[in-house]
Amino acid sequence: MIMKTILITGATAGIGEACALQFGAQGHRLIVTGRRQDRLNQLVVRLKNEGIQVASLCFDVTKKSEVDAAIASLTKTWQDVDVLINNAGLAVGLELLQDGVVDDWERMIDTNIKGLLYVTRAIAPNMVERKDGHIINVSSIAGKDVYKYGNVYCATKHAVDALSKAMRIDMLEDGIKVSNIAPGMVETEFSLVRFKGDADRAEVVYQQFVPLKAEDIADAIVYVTNTPKHVCVNDMVITPTAQANPFYTV
Ligand code: NAP
Repeated sequence: MIMKTILITGATAGIGEACALQFGAQGHRLIVTGRRQDRLNQLVVRLKNEGIQVASLCFDVTKKSEVDAAIASLTKTWQDVDVLINNAGLAVGLELLQDGVVDDWERMIDTNIKGLLYVTRAIAPNMVERKDGHIINVSSIAGKDVYKYGNVYCATKHAVDALSKAMRIDMLEDGIKVSNIAPGMVETEFSLVRFKGDADRAEVVYQQFVPLKAEDIADAIVYVTNTPKHVCVNDMVITPTAQANPFYTV
Protein backbone atom coordinates (compact mmCIF):
# COMPACT_ATOMS: atom_id res chain seq x y z
CA MET A 1 0.00 0.00 0.00
CA ILE A 2 1.25 3.50 -0.86
CA MET A 3 1.79 5.65 2.22
CA LYS A 4 -0.27 8.83 2.01
CA THR A 5 -0.33 12.10 3.94
CA ILE A 6 -3.87 12.48 5.23
CA LEU A 7 -5.30 15.63 6.83
CA ILE A 8 -8.42 15.06 8.93
CA THR A 9 -10.53 17.94 10.25
CA GLY A 10 -12.41 17.20 13.46
CA ALA A 11 -10.06 14.40 14.56
CA THR A 12 -10.59 15.08 18.27
CA ALA A 13 -13.77 12.97 18.48
CA GLY A 14 -16.15 10.63 16.71
CA ILE A 15 -15.72 9.82 13.03
CA GLY A 16 -12.57 11.91 12.57
CA GLU A 17 -10.81 10.26 15.50
CA ALA A 18 -11.82 6.79 14.27
CA CYS A 19 -10.41 7.67 10.83
CA ALA A 20 -7.11 8.77 12.41
CA LEU A 21 -6.78 5.48 14.28
CA GLN A 22 -7.62 3.35 11.24
CA PHE A 23 -5.42 5.25 8.78
CA GLY A 24 -2.64 5.25 11.35
CA ALA A 25 -2.90 1.48 11.71
CA GLN A 26 -2.39 1.23 7.94
CA GLY A 27 0.86 3.20 8.18
CA HIS A 28 -0.29 6.48 6.64
CA ARG A 29 1.10 9.86 7.80
CA LEU A 30 -1.52 11.94 9.59
CA ILE A 31 -2.25 15.61 10.18
CA VAL A 32 -4.92 15.68 12.86
CA THR A 33 -6.85 18.86 13.56
CA GLY A 34 -9.55 20.26 15.84
CA ARG A 35 -10.12 23.06 18.33
CA ARG A 36 -9.48 21.11 21.53
CA GLN A 37 -5.72 21.15 22.09
CA ASP A 38 -5.87 18.68 25.02
CA ARG A 39 -7.69 16.11 22.88
CA LEU A 40 -5.23 16.65 20.03
CA ASN A 41 -2.29 16.15 22.41
CA GLN A 42 -3.78 12.88 23.72
CA LEU A 43 -4.38 11.62 20.18
CA VAL A 44 -0.86 12.52 19.06
CA VAL A 45 0.66 10.67 22.04
CA ARG A 46 -1.51 7.63 21.30
CA LEU A 47 -0.58 7.59 17.60
CA LYS A 48 3.12 8.21 18.22
CA ASN A 49 3.19 5.36 20.75
CA GLU A 50 2.05 3.14 17.90
CA GLY A 51 4.91 4.39 15.71
CA ILE A 52 2.67 6.51 13.48
CA GLN A 53 4.02 9.71 11.90
CA VAL A 54 1.70 12.48 13.00
CA ALA A 55 1.46 16.27 13.04
CA SER A 56 -1.32 18.25 14.69
CA LEU A 57 -2.87 21.63 13.99
CA CYS A 58 -5.20 23.32 16.47
CA PHE A 59 -7.58 25.67 14.70
CA ASP A 60 -11.21 26.62 14.28
CA VAL A 61 -12.46 25.90 10.73
CA THR A 62 -14.87 28.84 10.97
CA LYS A 63 -12.00 31.34 11.19
CA LYS A 64 -10.37 31.75 7.79
CA SER A 65 -7.28 33.48 9.22
CA GLU A 66 -6.73 30.54 11.63
CA VAL A 67 -7.20 28.01 8.84
CA ASP A 68 -4.73 29.78 6.54
CA ALA A 69 -2.15 30.29 9.30
CA ALA A 70 -2.39 26.64 10.40
CA ILE A 71 -1.97 25.24 6.88
CA ALA A 72 0.85 27.70 6.16
CA SER A 73 2.64 26.55 9.32
CA LEU A 74 3.07 23.00 7.98
CA THR A 75 6.74 22.23 7.44
CA LYS A 76 7.88 21.23 3.96
CA THR A 77 7.63 17.49 4.60
CA TRP A 78 3.95 17.85 5.55
CA GLN A 79 2.78 20.29 2.87
CA ASP A 80 1.82 17.77 0.19
CA VAL A 81 -1.50 16.51 1.50
CA ASP A 82 -2.67 13.51 -0.53
CA VAL A 83 -6.05 13.11 1.15
CA LEU A 84 -8.15 15.83 2.79
CA ILE A 85 -11.00 14.58 4.94
CA ASN A 86 -13.43 17.44 5.51
CA ASN A 87 -15.13 15.92 8.52
CA ALA A 88 -15.44 18.74 11.11
CA GLY A 89 -19.09 19.60 11.45
CA LEU A 90 -22.00 19.84 13.80
CA ALA A 91 -25.72 20.20 14.33
CA VAL A 92 -26.87 22.70 16.95
CA GLY A 93 -30.46 22.76 18.18
CA LEU A 94 -33.57 21.08 16.84
CA GLU A 95 -36.34 23.64 16.40
CA LEU A 96 -38.92 24.55 13.82
CA LEU A 97 -37.53 27.20 11.49
CA GLN A 98 -39.92 29.83 12.81
CA ASP A 99 -38.59 29.22 16.34
CA GLY A 100 -34.96 28.90 15.25
CA VAL A 101 -32.00 30.32 17.16
CA VAL A 102 -30.05 32.48 14.75
CA ASP A 103 -26.77 31.90 16.58
CA ASP A 104 -27.24 28.14 16.13
CA TRP A 105 -27.89 28.64 12.41
CA GLU A 106 -24.73 30.68 12.09
CA ARG A 107 -22.60 28.09 13.87
CA MET A 108 -23.85 25.37 11.52
CA ILE A 109 -23.45 27.46 8.37
CA ASP A 110 -20.02 28.74 9.44
CA THR A 111 -18.72 25.28 10.38
CA ASN A 112 -20.34 22.92 7.89
CA ILE A 113 -20.22 25.10 4.79
CA LYS A 114 -17.77 27.96 5.23
CA GLY A 115 -15.29 25.95 7.30
CA LEU A 116 -15.24 23.16 4.72
CA LEU A 117 -14.68 25.76 2.00
CA TYR A 118 -11.86 27.54 3.88
CA VAL A 119 -9.95 24.31 4.48
CA THR A 120 -10.48 23.12 0.91
CA ARG A 121 -9.36 26.50 -0.47
CA ALA A 122 -6.17 26.23 1.58
CA ILE A 123 -5.31 22.64 0.57
CA ALA A 124 -6.68 22.12 -2.96
CA PRO A 125 -4.24 24.39 -4.90
CA ASN A 126 -1.31 22.17 -3.87
CA MET A 127 -3.23 19.07 -5.04
CA VAL A 128 -4.08 20.74 -8.33
CA GLU A 129 -0.46 21.77 -8.84
CA ARG A 130 0.68 18.19 -8.26
CA LYS A 131 -2.23 16.79 -10.29
CA ASP A 132 -2.87 14.35 -7.49
CA GLY A 133 -5.14 14.30 -4.48
CA HIS A 134 -8.39 13.15 -2.95
CA ILE A 135 -10.95 15.26 -1.11
CA ILE A 136 -13.47 13.39 1.04
CA ASN A 137 -16.39 15.42 2.34
CA VAL A 138 -18.44 14.08 5.24
CA SER A 139 -22.01 15.06 4.47
CA SER A 140 -25.04 13.21 5.91
CA ILE A 141 -28.35 11.64 4.98
CA ALA A 142 -29.50 15.12 6.05
CA GLY A 143 -27.89 16.17 2.76
CA LYS A 144 -30.20 13.84 0.85
CA ASP A 145 -33.54 14.41 2.60
CA VAL A 146 -35.00 17.11 4.83
CA TYR A 147 -36.62 16.11 8.09
CA LYS A 148 -38.80 18.04 10.54
CA TYR A 149 -36.74 20.33 12.84
CA GLY A 150 -33.64 19.64 10.72
CA ASN A 151 -34.05 22.75 8.50
CA VAL A 152 -30.70 24.56 8.68
CA TYR A 153 -28.57 21.48 9.45
CA CYS A 154 -30.15 19.74 6.44
CA ALA A 155 -29.50 22.84 4.33
CA THR A 156 -25.81 22.84 5.29
CA LYS A 157 -25.45 19.16 4.42
CA HIS A 158 -27.28 19.66 1.10
CA ALA A 159 -24.65 22.35 0.49
CA VAL A 160 -21.87 19.85 1.25
CA ASP A 161 -23.48 17.42 -1.20
CA ALA A 162 -23.55 20.15 -3.88
CA LEU A 163 -19.98 21.22 -3.13
CA SER A 164 -18.77 17.64 -3.52
CA LYS A 165 -20.30 17.60 -6.99
CA ALA A 166 -18.88 21.04 -7.79
CA MET A 167 -15.37 20.14 -6.62
CA ARG A 168 -15.42 16.96 -8.73
CA ILE A 169 -16.29 19.01 -11.82
CA ASP A 170 -13.90 21.88 -11.12
CA MET A 171 -10.88 19.64 -10.46
CA LEU A 172 -11.73 16.95 -13.00
CA GLU A 173 -9.02 18.02 -15.44
CA ASP A 174 -6.48 17.96 -12.63
CA GLY A 175 -7.17 14.34 -11.71
CA ILE A 176 -8.41 15.13 -8.21
CA LYS A 177 -10.82 12.59 -6.72
CA VAL A 178 -13.78 13.90 -4.71
CA SER A 179 -15.92 11.60 -2.57
CA ASN A 180 -19.06 12.44 -0.63
CA ILE A 181 -19.87 10.33 2.43
CA ALA A 182 -23.43 10.48 3.75
CA PRO A 183 -23.87 8.69 7.08
CA GLY A 184 -27.13 8.01 8.86
CA MET A 185 -27.15 7.95 12.64
CA VAL A 186 -23.71 7.41 14.20
CA GLU A 187 -23.17 7.29 17.97
CA THR A 188 -20.58 10.01 18.66
CA GLU A 189 -20.54 13.34 20.52
CA PHE A 190 -22.81 14.67 17.76
CA SER A 191 -26.03 14.60 19.82
CA LEU A 192 -24.29 15.99 22.91
CA VAL A 193 -23.25 18.97 20.77
CA ARG A 194 -26.70 19.22 19.15
CA PHE A 195 -28.36 19.35 22.58
CA LYS A 196 -25.74 21.73 23.98
CA GLY A 197 -24.31 19.34 26.56
CA ASP A 198 -27.58 17.73 27.70
CA ALA A 199 -26.23 14.16 28.08
CA ASP A 200 -29.58 12.60 29.02
CA ARG A 201 -31.28 13.96 25.91
CA ALA A 202 -28.33 12.90 23.75
CA GLU A 203 -28.32 9.36 25.15
CA VAL A 204 -31.99 8.81 24.31
CA VAL A 205 -31.23 9.38 20.62
CA TYR A 206 -29.06 6.27 20.52
CA GLN A 207 -31.51 4.09 22.45
CA GLN A 208 -34.13 4.08 19.70
CA PHE A 209 -32.27 1.51 17.55
CA VAL A 210 -28.78 0.20 17.00
CA PRO A 211 -26.84 3.13 15.52
CA LEU A 212 -23.64 3.08 13.51
CA LYS A 213 -20.32 3.37 15.31
CA ALA A 214 -17.73 5.94 14.27
CA GLU A 215 -15.54 2.99 13.21
CA ASP A 216 -18.17 1.90 10.67
CA ILE A 217 -17.87 5.22 8.84
CA ALA A 218 -14.07 5.17 9.18
CA ASP A 219 -14.10 1.70 7.51
CA ALA A 220 -15.98 3.19 4.55
CA ILE A 221 -13.67 6.21 4.32
CA VAL A 222 -10.61 3.94 4.41
CA TYR A 223 -12.11 1.84 1.60
CA VAL A 224 -12.84 4.93 -0.51
CA THR A 225 -9.32 6.24 0.08
CA ASN A 226 -7.62 2.99 -0.92
CA THR A 227 -9.31 2.54 -4.30
CA PRO A 228 -6.92 2.55 -7.30
CA LYS A 229 -6.04 5.90 -8.89
CA HIS A 230 -8.49 5.43 -11.77
CA VAL A 231 -11.43 4.69 -9.41
CA CYS A 232 -13.40 7.39 -7.60
CA VAL A 233 -16.26 6.56 -5.27
CA ASN A 234 -18.42 9.64 -5.82
CA ASP A 235 -21.07 9.20 -3.18
CA MET A 236 -21.68 6.72 -0.41
CA VAL A 237 -24.81 6.59 1.76
CA ILE A 238 -24.41 4.45 4.88
CA THR A 239 -27.15 3.96 7.44
CA PRO A 240 -27.67 1.58 10.33
CA THR A 241 -29.58 -1.48 9.13
CA ALA A 242 -32.46 -0.25 11.31
CA GLN A 243 -32.62 3.13 9.53
CA ALA A 244 -33.86 3.25 5.93
CA ASN A 245 -33.65 7.05 5.81
CA PRO A 246 -34.40 9.91 8.25
CA PHE A 247 -38.10 8.93 8.30
CA TYR A 248 -38.19 5.15 8.61
CA THR A 249 -36.51 3.34 11.48
CA VAL A 250 -37.29 0.19 13.43
P1 NAP B 1 -18.42 14.68 16.95
O1 NAP B 1 -18.09 13.44 17.71
O2 NAP B 1 -19.12 15.78 17.66
O3 NAP B 1 -17.09 15.22 16.25
C1 NAP B 1 -17.10 16.45 15.55
C2 NAP B 1 -15.67 16.90 15.30
O4 NAP B 1 -15.72 18.16 14.59
C3 NAP B 1 -14.88 17.13 16.57
O5 NAP B 1 -13.59 16.60 16.41
C4 NAP B 1 -14.81 18.65 16.68
O6 NAP B 1 -13.58 19.01 17.26
C5 NAP B 1 -14.85 19.08 15.20
N1 NAP B 1 -15.32 20.44 15.05
C6 NAP B 1 -16.57 20.92 15.30
N2 NAP B 1 -16.60 22.24 15.08
C7 NAP B 1 -15.34 22.60 14.69
C8 NAP B 1 -14.74 23.84 14.35
N3 NAP B 1 -15.43 24.99 14.34
N4 NAP B 1 -13.43 23.85 14.00
C9 NAP B 1 -12.72 22.70 14.00
N5 NAP B 1 -13.23 21.49 14.32
C10 NAP B 1 -14.52 21.47 14.66
O7 NAP B 1 -19.38 14.33 15.71
P2 NAP B 1 -19.25 13.26 14.51
O8 NAP B 1 -20.52 12.50 14.50
O9 NAP B 1 -17.96 12.54 14.54
O10 NAP B 1 -19.30 14.26 13.28
C11 NAP B 1 -18.36 14.26 12.22
C12 NAP B 1 -19.07 14.66 10.93
O11 NAP B 1 -20.03 13.65 10.61
C13 NAP B 1 -19.84 15.98 10.99
O12 NAP B 1 -19.62 16.69 9.80
C14 NAP B 1 -21.29 15.55 11.09
O13 NAP B 1 -22.18 16.50 10.58
C15 NAP B 1 -21.26 14.29 10.27
N6 NAP B 1 -22.36 13.35 10.51
C16 NAP B 1 -22.58 12.83 11.75
C17 NAP B 1 -23.64 11.96 11.96
C18 NAP B 1 -23.94 11.35 13.30
O14 NAP B 1 -25.06 10.81 13.47
N7 NAP B 1 -23.02 11.39 14.26
C19 NAP B 1 -24.48 11.61 10.87
C20 NAP B 1 -24.22 12.15 9.63
C21 NAP B 1 -23.16 13.02 9.45
P3 NAP B 1 -13.34 20.19 18.34
O15 NAP B 1 -14.57 20.30 19.17
O16 NAP B 1 -12.12 19.76 19.07
O17 NAP B 1 -13.09 21.38 17.48
